[in-house]
Amino acid sequence: MKTLRLDKFLCDALGCTRSEARKMIRQGRVLAGDEIIKKPEHKVNPEEDEITADGQKLNFREYEYLMMNKPKGVVTATKDGRDKTVMDLITGTHRKGLFPAGRLDKDTEGLLLITDDGELAHRLLSPKHHVTKRYSVTVTGEIGREQQEVFESGMDIGDDKPLKPARLVIHRSGEVSEAEVWITEGRFHQIKRMFEAVGSKVLELKRLSMGSLVLDPKLLPGQVRELTEEEIRCLK
Ligand code: URA
Repeated sequence: MKTLRLDKFLCDALGCTRSEARKMIRQGRVLAGDEIIKKPEHKVNPEEDEITADGQKLNFREYEYLMMNKPKGVVTATKDGRDKTVMDLITGTHRKGLFPAGRLDKDTEGLLLITDDGELAHRLLSPKHHVTKRYSVTVTGEIGREQQEVFESGMDIGDDKPLKPARLVIHRSGEVSEAEVWITEGRFHQIKRMFEAVGSKVLELKRLSMGSLVLDPKLLPGQVRELTEEEIRCLK
């Protein structure tokens, strides 16, 4: 890993502002090994140097990873002139470059990863990497083997290319049906259009997982938590 300025290291490790970091450094509260460093521009190597602030060892995080249970009614964007965005739900001190990795419709809820790790986001979202996204869905009308076969066949929903095969697991079929859908792409309104093509309308849609990352059942809609080290490791 490259070296970086001590004040930048503190911002990343503590989630503080550059001026707060500089103040701590100038006050002599920050050590590299057992040496007090008073220069914010002092270069450190996060893999080799043991940095402590107020006697506490700091762990450098190269990127930040947040799991959100996106509620209905907010848009997946960093800014929106009209609607509340998922970023408006994030409180506390966080990095500047955070963005939602992928998009859920305004009326969809569930798992959303928010990060500043562009490379990981690209890998999760690129159709080349076939990362599975699993959704629970409530739809109108009966669904059965016929719909499963259409989903598995790689259906045409009017785009220039047919879809990749998808999996439909039916939990209940009736006037209103419940199922889980596994897809490996992320086309615009994909699941709604898939059900529309087989004669059903999506009433409720919730993302449950994305690759190895599974929505924490303890997170209520609108709540956010940091990913655990284990979750980050499995995603990479
Ligand atoms: N498919 C949809 O139709 N909407 C979403 O939000 C996600 C997948």
